[in-house]
Amino acid sequence: MTSDRHTNDLLARHRAVIPDWVSLYYQDPVEITHGEGRYVWDSTGRRYLDFFGGILTTMTAHALPEVTKAITEQAGRIIHSSTLYLNRPMVELAERVAHLSGIPDARVFFTTSGTEANDTALLLATAHRRTNQILAMRNSYHGRSFSAVSVTGNRAWSPTTLSPLQTLYVHGGVRGRGPYAHLSDARFIEACVADLEDLLGHTGDVAALIAEPIQGVGGFTSPPDGLYAAFREVLAPRGILWIADEVQTGWGRTGEHFWGWQAHAASGPPDVLTFAKGIGNGMSIGGVVARAEVMNCLNANSISTFGGSPVTMAAGLANLSYLLEHDLQGNARRVGGLLAERLRAATAGCAHVREVRGRGLMLGIELVKPGTDEANPRAAAAVLEAAREGGLLIGKGGGHDTSALRIAPPLSLTVAEAEEGAAILERALRSV
Ligand code: PMP
Repeated sequence: MTSDRHTNDLLARHRAVIPDWVSLYYQDPVEITHGEGRYVWDSTGRRYLDFFGGILTTMTAHALPEVTKAITEQAGRIIHSSTLYLNRPMVELAERVAHLSGIPDARVFFTTSGTEANDTALLLATAHRRTNQILAMRNSYHGRSFSAVSVTGNRAWSPTTLSPLQTLYVHGGVRGRGPYAHLSDARFIEACVADLEDLLGHTGDVAALIAEPIQGVGGFTSPPDGLYAAFREVLAPRGILWIADEVQTGWGRTGEHFWGWQAHAASGPPDVLTFAKGIGNGMSIGGVVARAEVMNCLNANSISTFGGSPVTMAAGLANLSYLLEHDLQGNARRVGGLLAERLRAATAGCAHVREVRGRGLMLGIELVKPGTDEANPRAAAAVLEAAREGGLLIGKGGGHDTSALRIAPPLSLTVAEAEEGAAILERALRSV
């Protein structure tokens, strides 16, 4: 174990003052003190390859000099609010995000988190449609504010069962499990559409469907390509909006596409798109994009003091420029493809690995009890610990059982680092 007295003291102080539900990974939690590229270091000086920070915070690379410079220069000039006065970095980032979103006549509202972005999207959709009925996907995760919880199908992640919204849950976000798992992709989509139509037949007006193109916390499970396009054909004629939660799938992470919705592009961009996580490379940026007609339906004097504040926007601009100039989406496709291949080969003989799945640098490994289809959260927890011992940080997630390992490195991951991480992971998987 790598802990020292300094870290142990901090853990005791953490437990004495931070709520119990602020969870920490590892029996012996890690205190990360600094990072560079795809690596982070703990308080004992131990180095880890970071295969999870890409989802949490770091879209491009840790301590990216371009982003650090943009933050410090802006902080040296002014750190201010995003409302009441004109804010140049906010307008510049909004212009770029509006263009990238694919949404026509787009307006962009910045928040400080993904939860707040989804909250705002739900506020918009319910105000625009004058109803509080929402469709959401089973096993979904959209955050932990009151309204985000009420559209989160993954109850294991919901701190309350009370709800300000009336939510109906739809099949389709999980391809490999559930009543339609045995069907071909085309039949799977048909069955999910029939399920959606059945739900709509028994309800009044619905405001929106909120869905993650690939379920993140749910364990990186994807529906067949085209599912959401098929859903749109049912929803659009009824005026029901599609909110695509791109908090984990945005900015090229899936390799093939810049946004997750593009795997379902047949019927065009979503009505509302939400994003967060890595865009600020660790600075707290979330946001909502919607066409003007939807966005401008609110009667408000802005709704956030800090969303879009100049320092976070400066970070976002520098980070986005780096991502685009270095084609990190292409890197996610190439290196993610190699990593997936390497992990499939490494786990071929493992009786407790059900599948390696995902896209680009968003890869999941689902663990089961050997030779069965039964989820194995204990094995997932043990692999997480063993990987850390080997010098690799990964994540976990999954339906109601947390039996999937989640791999989401910064998008600048090199082939050599992918090989290094795969080798550590292979040893960790074989050790449990
Ligand atoms: N949506 C999705 C798909 C997420 O994965 C998350 C965070 N895990 C959120 C929303 C909430 O984002 P935040 O933690 O920034 O509030």
